[in-house]
Amino acid sequence: MAATLIKGSEISKQIKEELKKEIALLKEKYNIVPGLTTVLVGQDEASKVYVGAKEKACKELVMYSERNDIPADTTEADLLALIDRLNNDNKIHGILVQLPLPKHINAAKVLYAIDPNKDVDGFHPVNVGKMIIGEPCFLPCTPHGILELLIRSGVETNGAEVVVVGRSNIVGKPIANMLIQKRKGGNATVTVCHTGTKDIASHTRRADILIVAAGKPKTITADMVKEGAVVIDVGVNRLETGLVGDVDFETVKEKAKAITPVPGGVGPMTITMLMYNTVQAAKMAAGIKVEL
Ligand code: NAP
Repeated sequence: MAATLIKGSEISKQIKEELKKEIALLKEKYNIVPGLTTVLVGQDEASKVYVGAKEKACKELVMYSERNDIPADTTEADLLALIDRLNNDNKIHGILVQLPLPKHINAAKVLYAIDPNKDVDGFHPVNVGKMIIGEPCFLPCTPHGILELLIRSGVETNGAEVVVVGRSNIVGKPIANMLIQKRKGGNATVTVCHTGTKDIASHTRRADILIVAAGKPKTITADMVKEGAVVIDVGVNRLETGLVGDVDFETVKEKAKAITPVPGGVGPMTITMLMYNTVQAAKMAAGIKVEL
């Protein structure tokens, strides 16, 4: 039987509707408008598209948005000075530095310069550390989006065998950490696979929930998936034939219980969770109780 589709496009709409209500209430009760700024260094075409999408999402939710598009030859010192100014700007609750940065700039130094209370990407080591020890913090947007997809689709993580393929700092490591936390949407037993893993299929075949973030089409084929598994495909690969994930969708969907499509699965959740984090940051700045 073909798998149920876990549609991030629909779940992200639900979350945006909830955020719209929260944003309207913040305006009405406290005169607060959550503000996000993007920092784009240079003219990378894909980065311009991502920054534009974030600006559009802010407009849709009636949030304040600001763009700082600066030349590719901006010095590291000038970029750090800009971050410092944004850290001290009360209209701005979230700062997003679009990666990758040009090679002459130390990306870690720039990301670490962002005030952790405005780090809505969840990449600052203070937030990463809090995530690992299970304290409230800004969770990185893509893995946070995956967690919401699982929770809102009614997928039980408690006691589940989860296998994550990929160990990047932005997807694999954080989602593995989130899923081992002792709380709702966690309490799973997690295995993380990477290119050093021997016999990946022996792990993936055990998974009740299989999360794939490898960055290569057809990393996971039907023979690597347990009958009735839930499969979350994080991959985004642009082929001549169109956009595909890391999972061989056509064959795996016949074996899985539920699967995320590409596009329309994990993708739309990332920006939505960025908006969610920005709204929480605005509440935090005003001393209002937040849910992180
Ligand atoms: P990344 O930094 O390139 O990391 C890929 C990870 O997968 C690495 O840990 C690598 O192992 C592992 N890997 C690669 N091939 C493998 C294989 N055949 N078997 C086992 N492990 C393998 O990628 P990323 O940033 O995590 O992104 C992964 C994918 O998700 C990409 O397609 C990206 O475009 C997509 N993505 C989507 C969103 C979204 O919003 N939908 C957001 C972020 C990323 P090693 O560490 O050993 O090299």
